[in-house]
Order: sequence, then C-alpha cells, then structure tokens
Amino acid sequence: MKTINIFGVTGSIGQSTVKVLNQQRGKYSIEAITAGQNVVLLAKLAIELGAKIAVIANRSKFDELKSLLANHPIEVDCGEDGLVRVAEREVDICLAAIVGYAGLKPTLVSLKYAKRVALANKECLVAAGDLFIAEAEKYGCEIIPVDSEHSAMAQCLRGSKSSEMEKILLTASGGPFRTFTMPEMKDITLKQALKHPNWDMGAKITIDSATLMNKGNELIEAYHLFPISLEDIEVVIHKQSIIHSMIQYCDGSVIAQLGTPEMGTAISYALGYPDRLSLNFKRLDLFDIAELNFEKPDETRFKCLTLAKQSVTIGGACGAVLNAANEVAVHAFLQESISFLEIANICEETMTRAQSDQIMDQANTLADICETDRQARIIATSLLNLSK
Ligand code: NDP
Repeated sequence: MKTINIFGVTGSIGQSTVKVLNQQRGKYSIEAITAGQNVVLLAKLAIELGAKIAVIANRSKFDELKSLLANHPIEVDCGEDGLVRVAEREVDICLAAIVGYAGLKPTLVSLKYAKRVALANKECLVAAGDLFIAEAEKYGCEIIPVDSEHSAMAQCLRGSKSSEMEKILLTASGGPFRTFTMPEMKDITLKQALKHPNWDMGAKITIDSATLMNKGNELIEAYHLFPISLEDIEVVIHKQSIIHSMIQYCDGSVIAQLGTPEMGTAISYALGYPDRLSLNFKRLDLFDIAELNFEKPDETRFKCLTLAKQSVTIGGACGAVLNAANEVAVHAFLQESISFLEIANICEETMTRAQSDQIMDQANTLADICETDRQARIIATSLLNLSK
C-alpha cells in the first residue's frame, strides 16, 4: 500500500482525489489530511478515509477539531507549523492541493520527505518556480502535475525524448468572457465570473480562469516543469476543453491528450504513474462533441497572460510579485470591492512598482520569496485602497 498526504482535502481537487481513492480500495493508505477552516468536513473525511492525522490550518478551529475527533484514534494538529510538521512525515505521495501561496511552504518541505509530489498547487511554481524545481532535484522528489493541461503534456511526452519536443500547445477554454467586448467587460459581475463554462473548481482558480491569469500561471508552470523556452509555449483557445494540451515534435507530429473536463483522470494519473488506475468516470463521447474549435487568445482584453510572460522574462522573484498581487486582487474582487478589470490593473501596477523598488531581485531561498511576497502584498493592498 502506498502512503499519501492530502493537503487541501476539503477543496475541489481534494474532493475529486477522495472520489478517485474510493475507487482504489486497498491500494493507498492515508497518512495526513489537511484543511484551511472547514473543520466539520475535515473531521468527517479523516474518519471515512482512516487518516492517521488531521490538520486544520486555522488555529481558532482547533478545539472544534479535537472535540469532533475525540472518540477516534486520529491525531490532530493545527496552524501553518502543523502543516509543516505533517509535511515532514515520510510518505510515498503528497497530493498538494492547498489553494494559493499558503501551499508553498508545506509543499516545499514535502519535496524532502515525499517520494512524489502530485502537484495541483500551481502557485508554488508561479511564486517560486526556480527554487521549487531545484529543491525537488536536490532531494530526488518526483513531481507529477495534477493540473489537467500539464498532466496532458506529461502524457503526450511519454515514450518520446523531450529533446524532440518543438512546442507546447497549451489549451485554454477562454473562460466565461471569451467573446465579451471591452465595454462589456467593464460591467462583469462576481456571479458571472464564478460561472465557468466547462469546469467546476474552487473560487480562486475560477476567477483566475475568467481573467486568463490561470492560463498565465499554467504557462509559468509549464516553463518550469518541462525543458522548453517561453517562446515555444503557445496558448490555444479551445472552448470545448476536450483537448487538455498538445506537444508538437520536431518532425511536425502533434500529439494530444483528450478527455472530459473533470479532474479525476489527471489526479489518478499523478497517483498511479507509471501505471494507469482503472476509473469508473464518464467517458468521452466524440460523436456527442462533434466539433473542436481553436482560436488565438486576445491579450489586449486579457492582459494577465502578457503579465505572466513578462514575469518569466524579468525573472528573479517577479513570479512571487505577480502571484501576491493577483491573490490580493482576486480576494478583493470576491469581496466585491473592486471591478473585474481592476484585477489585471493591480497586478500590472504592482509589478511596475516592485521593479522600481527593487523588491524582486533575490529568489534563492524561501525567506527571499516570503519577503518579496510580503512587500508585494503591501503594494497591491495600497493600490486596492486607491481604486476604491
Ligand atoms: P479550493 O478553494 O476548492 O480548495 C482549497 C483547499 O485549500 C481547501 O482544502 C482549503 O480548506 C485549503 N486552504 C485554503 N486556505 C488555506 C490556508 N491558508 N492554509 C491551509 N489550507 C488552506 O481550491 P481548488 O481545489 O480549486 O484548488 C486547489 C489548488 O489546485 C489551486 O492551487 C488550484 O490552482 C489548483 N488546481 C485546481 C483545479 C480544479 O479543478 N479545482 C485544476 C487544476 C489546478 P477549506 O476548505 O477549509 O477552506
């Protein structure tokens, strides 16, 4: 039996992982599961999954967790340090599905103690890509992406030499505002932005998908995960979300991975690799789909994509700045205190100010990244106040 930690078990990816595991009885043993604040669901899952330890990040919920699990042989812990303590348990797989920058530290620590990190938390690579990959190499930890696009790329690369790869074709649904004009985008509501046409996901990534920051994040993720230059990663809008991404090879062949828009396949691939796990999920019906369409992205309306590329070109801790600004802006949009278009403006202005303040030159250690993140959040928050 393989041992697993599931970070972010109460979220969208966490719940999909539980569904996958429920179809693999006897193959995996759950060591630790964690949540941010949903203590009731955390306790329920700890009992159902037979987890050895449950960790709640929000300390104020710790007493409730203790009382919910009082009659069960399950250890409990809390806080950011509690997350790090479970990351230090040796396991076969750490499924990293905390949302945002909060996932960076425990996932980084997991690279030392887990044999494999099944990586959903893309913000780790956006905020600290060079450091993250260097630590994985240092400790010999295998990173298998859970993001469906990067899972597709890894699957398309199987059996081929990565040196023969010419281009990555990173597909994007285009989100709910793909066909909106700029004047129409001024009036986008939170409710509209939270309704993704194809995928059912957590709130933050749903907003990131609507601004195309998610695609920018994925571009950065692909850049760090695969040996390819930024110029050779092309974003292709494919509104049906059936092709999850493609690899173009040096002989002109293009290999694609297709599937229904749900995360079960990518999660099971990351857990089972190099084997494929049998999954009883809905199969793709090509006759039902009938048509696949492709368009170029419009970076004038969706400038987050341009900002993501710029952050790679600038390098250093620029990814940490972009990620921090985006987290601050998305949080404000979710609170309905800024407009949809202000998300990208705040990210752009934070990057400009961070560059002139020289807060992103150092990205060698976690402390460097944390300091840049802290300062970028101060800048982004001050911009929020200006836009009110
Ligand atoms: P959700 O918001 O649905 O879930 C996030 C999880 O993280 C929850 O378990 C949440 O706990 C926990 N969490 C939130 N804040 C903290 C914190 N400060 N400390 C510790 N834990 C915390 O997100 P998703 O599942 O949608 O996404 C998770 C990650 O996977 C993101 O990085 C996302 O970009 C990536 N991803 C998601 C996809 C999807 O289909 N959803 C697809 C590809 C990648 P609680 O429930 O208690 O708040």
